Amino acid sequence: MSGRILVVGLGPGHDSHRTAAAEDALREARHLVGYGPYLARVTLRDGQTAHASDNREEFDRARHALQLAATGETVALVSSGDAGVFAMAATLFEALEAEGAPDVEIAVVPGVTAMIAAAARTGAPLGHDFCAISLSDNLKPWETVLGRVRAAAGADFVIALYNPISKARPWQLGKALEALRELRAPDTPVVFATAVSRPDEEILVLPLSDARPEMADMRTLVIVGSSQTRCIRRGNDRVWVYTPRKAPVPA
Ligand code: SAH
Repeated sequence: MSGRILVVGLGPGHDSHRTAAAEDALREARHLVGYGPYLARVTLRDGQTAHASDNREEFDRARHALQLAATGETVALVSSGDAGVFAMAATLFEALEAEGAPDVEIAVVPGVTAMIAAAARTGAPLGHDFCAISLSDNLKPWETVLGRVRAAAGADFVIALYNPISKARPWQLGKALEALRELRAPDTPVVFATAVSRPDEEILVLPLSDARPEMADMRTLVIVGSSQTRCIRRGNDRVWVYTPRKAPVPA
């Protein structure tokens, strides 16, 4: 009997941001494989087994899921947000290329990625062309990261920065903001959206000139506006950020 792997994105935090298809997949699986803190967000049912692993063991985790599925089991391979965005779906396909696993059926179940949840909290900053860049230089050289940040700023994309900072990567966000300040106006709106849809959620909106790396931690998604992104102030403390759908004709 062939086994199955359901690659599942749990959404950014709150259960209401988890898709119904993701819930179905989590119910269907007999084994749940993932990073410990993500698995802790899933309520196990009778007969389900959780296999928690360290965050740095992604390839081994994907291979483990394939091995379990090869014995005929249904396995949910779990990521936060969307499993296809800087997460386990791509790792699974890497493991699949390496291992073959001809008898394993695969389905990828979409989730709400952090960028979409953060955008919704702040208005519509992704209303026009945008891109997403991971600032982590664990899996690509820092020159590549910085080159992409510069190219995206040069092309006037709104830029969503994933993995902005961590204890092991303390300086990268500062360098990226420095590069952005060279290419974007000082009053460009920047969003620091931390732990979106979780109890400790925090949203900061401020001009690029005031953006500091200390405003982010590893639970933060940073959105840097394009030349068109603007703010609307409502009342004393509500600021909406949006990027108009129409771009100006080049001069
Ligand atoms: N697959 C995930 C991204 C994993 S990379 C997704 O689709 O969202 C991890 C990064 O995602 C974090 O460093 C942070 O930049 C972002 N992130 C994940 N959850 C978040 C949340 N609830 N609020 C803000 N950013 C989040």
